[in-house]
Amino acid sequence: MNSYIAGCSETGDGIYIDPGAEVGRVIETAERLGVRLTKIVGTHAHLDHAEGVAEAKEKLGLPYWLHEAELYNLQNMPAAAQGYGFAVPEVPEVDGYLVPGESLAVGNLVFEICLTDGHAPGNITLYRPGSDGEAGHAIVGDALFAGSIGRTDLYMGNAKTLLESIRTQLLTLPPDTLVFPGHGPETTIGHEMAANPYCQPGAENLLG
Ligand SMILES: [Zn+2]
Ligand SMILES: [Zn+2]
Repeated sequence: MNSYIAGCSETGDGIYIDPGAEVGRVIETAERLGVRLTKIVGTHAHLDHAEGVAEAKEKLGLPYWLHEAELYNLQNMPAAAQGYGFAVPEVPEVDGYLVPGESLAVGNLVFEICLTDGHAPGNITLYRPGSDGEAGHAIVGDALFAGSIGRTDLYMGNAKTLLESIRTQLLTLPPDTLVFPGHGPETTIGHEMAANPYCQPGAENLLG
């Protein structure tokens, strides 16, 4: 899975998005880039995106924010880990809730918080509009991948809801918007509109 650091080049403030594995490596990367991490943010709380949160909180002493609808997934991490035969992670405390329609400021960067549910009930997208010919950025969790979409067979997953979220929250963004998914390579909205079968009209027919 992909963890992300989003930092403001003017103030040096940054956020750590989705601490899964390799927490130490991400912290070292932030230090090397001169980013001062101020908050840990979850796109959603599936095991792969949140199993490193407790470690990151302990090492960095930072608050953890996510959508309230992800509390079930967060509390369910130990059971999910046992089911997969993985090491059982510590469930971190949540310090604040991300509310769709509100914004999240990181230094002088401002992200809009959008609900892109269907993969998980509180999967949020952080969207920063572009300006002055610079493309916008969308950190989408597991809603949309290059050429695919997130699975919908987990807790409160719903394929129709996911397609609707993608249509209303993501495909409405400018085509040059850079998309940073929870798995796999980055892409753009325009590329997915052209090449992703789940972004085409009638994609419901793919659901079987
Ligand atoms: Zn997920
Ligand atoms: Zn994932």
